[in-house]
Parts: sequence; C-alpha cells; structure tokens
Amino acid sequence: MYEFSVFYIFHFIVFIKLNCTFEIMNSSKYYLLSIDLEDVRFRMDNGKYLPEKLVINVIEYLSFLEKHDAKVTFFTVGDIAVHYPDLIKEITKKGHEIACHSLNHGHIDNHTPESFYKDISECKELLLKAGAETVIGYRAPRFSLTSETQWAYGMLAKAGFTYSSSVLPAKNPIYGWENFGNAVKIMDGIIEIPMSIYPPGNRFSLPFGGGVYFRALPYCLIQYYFKKHFQEQNFCTGYFHPYDIDDEVEHFRFPEIKNALFHFLLYYNRRNTLKRLDKIVDNGYIFTTYADFIASLDLPEHE
Ligand SMILES: [Zn+2]
Repeated sequence: MYEFSVFYIFHFIVFIKLNCTFEIMNSSKYYLLSIDLEDVRFRMDNGKYLPEKLVINVIEYLSFLEKHDAKVTFFTVGDIAVHYPDLIKEITKKGHEIACHSLNHGHIDNHTPESFYKDISECKELLLKAGAETVIGYRAPRFSLTSETQWAYGMLAKAGFTYSSSVLPAKNPIYGWENFGNAVKIMDGIIEIPMSIYPPGNRFSLPFGGGVYFRALPYCLIQYYFKKHFQEQNFCTGYFHPYDIDDEVEHFRFPEIKNALFHFLLYYNRRNTLKRLDKIVDNGYIFTTYADFIASLDLPEHE
C-alpha cells in the first residue's frame, strides 16, 4: 500500500499547511451532486453471476435526498432505461433530473462523430420512453471529452442537448483536459460545466467533490477544498455511482480497474458516504439539479 500512503501523506501535508477553520456558507453556493446511473455488471463477461444491487442503492439515495428535500441529476446509461424503466419513472416522480450518460458506456474516443450522434440520440430516446420528462444534459463516460474529442459538442448541439458535464480539467492518466479551467464555458453552443478540482493547476488536482476522492480523503480536507473552491466559483460538482454507498457487496474487480490501489479505493469507506453528504448539507451548500443551476445562470445567448 505504498501508493496509498503517498496519496494520504500528500493531502495531509496540504491540510496541515492550510488554515483549518470553517464557516457556514451562504445560500449562493450550489453543490451539483450527480449520480452516474450505470451497472458495471453489464460490461463484464461474468456480470450476470454478480448480485444485482443497483435498485436498492438508488432507492437509498432517493431516501437520503428526500430527507433533505434535495434534487439532483442522474446521468443515466441507455441500458438502464431498458432494464429498469420503473426506476427512471420513480426518479422522475421524485422531482430529480434524468440526463444522458451514453447508450452503453462507450468512451467518446471510440466513436466517430456520426456514431457518437447516433449513440446519444438513441440514449435520449430510450430515457424519454422510460419516463424522463426532458433530457437536456450529457456526461461522457469516464470524462472522455477532451481537447481531442471536442468535436462532440457539435454533435450534442445537433442532437438537441443544452449542457454537458464531461470534462475533468486536470492532467489524468486516462482522460483529462488540463487547461480547460474550472469555470462554466460555452462550447459550440453547449454549456460545459467541468468537474470541480482542487488544488487547481497542479499535478495533484483532484475532483474532491465526489466518488472515490470524496470517500478516501480526510473529511476535514474535503471540507477545506469545498471552502476554497467556493471562493472562486458559485458551484461545485460531485459525481457518485450507485455502488459508492454499498458497503456490503462482495469486492469484485471492475473491468477497467487494473491497478491494485484503485481497486482498494473503489471499495474504501463506502459506509461513510451518506454521512459525509449529511455534513455537506449541514454546511449550507444547496443541492440542485444541473438543469435548475443552468436556469439560474446569466449566460450570453447560446444556440
Ligand atoms: Zn460512467
């Protein structure tokens, strides 16, 4: 666990060097918590032999959100709309937003512009057919929208989307758009809301507001990163998956995860995810859907 120790030691050093005092935030700080609604079993040869936990985990998220009267966005894979249409209806009925996360989790760089357009159009149609009221948002699987695949914005606009939250604005061994920046931008008619990272412009930049980083970093550091980030932006993004709150499922290896450290972190501290999110609510951050956040923005006219 050498790598894990280095990971922790770096972020503890950052924490010790910083002033660790916190304030209640004012009401203009939006936390765009989102859930990437996908089932990794669909991408595995032996997936059908693994227990189905998706529905029970989503219901737990819905209960948590209802407790806080919070609305969020579910970036949903088309396969899920086919297999679990009642779940789409339930999420919609509770007032949450359904957005597109591709047909079956194919990365953008494996597409041509034409096949990408077909993929997102079909996914959108499936989500609407399953019960989504509107589908205006998109998230690229594994944040595979980069400087090399930015042609995707034109295809998203052509398919009738309004926004995307698909860019990891940092150096990353898999995907990442290092110089994109933390702010909302309009790209070929699509509003891009990038993942929030901290510290910015640094090889240690992390998307602290969601997933494995939100679970694995010390909570006081997470809280500090929220505070510092909100000094520059009025929103913070955070992405989770159904499994991020599942502490009971057996520890199987995800097909994309080759590294032992990542495998370890994938299951680390899941039991505290919702407890940590409770604290985010207590800090006064406002949970909102991407669609509602965009409606609140004073953006120049876009097509
Ligand atoms: Zn995904």
